[in-house]
Amino acid sequence: MNEDLIAYFDNRYVALRDAKVGILTHALNYGTGLFEGLRAYWNEREEELFLLRPLEHFERWKTNSRILRIEIPPAPEELCRITAELLRRNRFRSNVYVRPLAYKSAERIGVSPDDQDAFTIAALPFGDYLDSAKGLHAGVVSWRRIEDNAIPGRAKITGAYVNSALASDEARRNGFDEAIFLNEDGHLAEGASCNIFLVRGGKLITPAASDNILEGITRACVIELARQEMRLEVVERSLDRSELYVCDEMFFTGTAVEVAPVVQVDHRPVGAGAIGPVTSRLRRIYCEAVRGQLAAYRKWLLPVYHPPEAAGKAA
Ligand code: PMP
Repeated sequence: MNEDLIAYFDNRYVALRDAKVGILTHALNYGTGLFEGLRAYWNEREEELFLLRPLEHFERWKTNSRILRIEIPPAPEELCRITAELLRRNRFRSNVYVRPLAYKSAERIGVSPDDQDAFTIAALPFGDYLDSAKGLHAGVVSWRRIEDNAIPGRAKITGAYVNSALASDEARRNGFDEAIFLNEDGHLAEGASCNIFLVRGGKLITPAASDNILEGITRACVIELARQEMRLEVVERSLDRSELYVCDEMFFTGTAVEVAPVVQVDHRPVGAGAIGPVTSRLRRIYCEAVRGQLAAYRKWLLPVYHPPEAAGKAA
């Protein structure tokens, strides 16, 4: 299926099958990579592919690269341009997932990193990540979310995703669709690969950035939509585990999961046990906004096939 895909590797567009690294690569051995995840949405009526907030994704990537001291030379605007060109070369006419990855590229033994860095961008057709239309069953896992002073969870550091892989594996083997992490303080952090929101007393509540979460771009989109379109109060604060069991609604957000309703948590119904009104409205407007159907949010989108003069500006 991936036979004909094109990737950006070594500052060139190459066949994905030729984009390979050696087995001694530092990042492969020690987890010293930093990735991103973006989506592009296909709008059939306009015959256009829209990259969703590429500038914010590339700004997050570049900013967080300071944590691992990985250099990603192009400016965020240039990364938007490279990615749009990558999607055009792949001639995608469906929803797409884009995976940028910067990494410590030296091929040698020894954990101490040096200044040899590289980056690549892959893109592939991508449908639903979780089948969440009917609502998910989520479960708190026994693994705790990594602490900022161990491996900073605000950056998408490849090695840090062992934490998510362990949580996700435990959740699925225990019959849940998705994991919920607590942090070492016992407060809610997030899902294995998504942020979490609860609705309580008409307010939208989500763990604060200092609770060891990844500062999600979908989270920021949903906060903006809730405030602007629904006039909802949004609170970012530490949440107790038991708030999962007494809330009215719950959902996950993320580039891959989008807005995914949770209707059961730890074998208890969430609210009435069905998708609630706040979640279903947010899910609908998010879905419209990312496909270019809401004029107010076209600012989030970079059209791939008919880009504006200064590509990246519209992101
Ligand atoms: N938390 C984690 C651990 C993630 O991996 C992701 C996916 N990037 C998210 C949250 C959601 O972030 P975003 O909305 O930027 O995709």
